Amino acid sequence: MLKWLDILNFARNGNPIAPRRVEKTDEQWQAELDPETYMITRKKGTERPFSSQSCQLFEPGKYYCVCCQTLLFDADEKFDSGSGWPSFTQPASIEAVAYHGDKSLGMTRIEITCNVCDSHLGHVFPDGPEPSGLRYCVNATSMEKK
Ligand SMILES: [Zn+2]
Repeated sequence: MLKWLDILNFARNGNPIAPRRVEKTDEQWQAELDPETYMITRKKGTERPFSSQSCQLFEPGKYYCVCCQTLLFDADEKFDSGSGWPSFTQPASIEAVAYHGDKSLGMTRIEITCNVCDSHLGHVFPDGPEPSGLRYCVNATSMEKK
């Protein structure tokens, strides 16, 4: 189980080795994705809170990267954070998600991306429920549920 110290270690010293890589040019992503998805996933946008019904959905299922179909999160790890974004306490696998220090907006946060295609997913915070204490705060737009 990943904990906050593991997340800081990945962000500072290098991320888990990705199981595979999907790399496309900015033009290719723009052509393949709808404008909102492109802005969020490739330009580090943030959807408005409570803009997705998936925050309140907790039935079983798996959440895949909308850009490259990598399995990112399992509904078993989903919880209601009240933040307005889908929230998870762990990724589906350690290799699925990459971590990066993000000093934008005058805060130091940890950005999370798909480790396969570098799609922006959201941020991870150390204020989630035990036992991991992690809150992966993810744009619903960056995932596809199956
Ligand atoms: Zn991806």
